Amino acid sequence: MNETKAQQVCPYCHGHADLISNEDMLIYIKLEEYAYLCAEDDEYISHREIHYCPCCGRKLGDDY
Ligand SMILES: [Zn+2]
Repeated sequence: MNETKAQQVCPYCHGHADLISNEDMLIYIKLEEYAYLCAEDDEYISHREIHYCPCCGRKLGDDY
């Protein structure tokens, strides 16, 4: 692994912060067996598998 400093401390792909959080919407990265980008509103939760952090570009899913 060759991670930049920004990738090592990125709060979004280490589960420390939500990507977007406001009254109507919550978007965050969920780390389980794979990495998922999750979007929640009052009614729905949607998610899809992702392979890279949208903020720092760190590769996700292998180890974290
Ligand atoms: Zn990141």
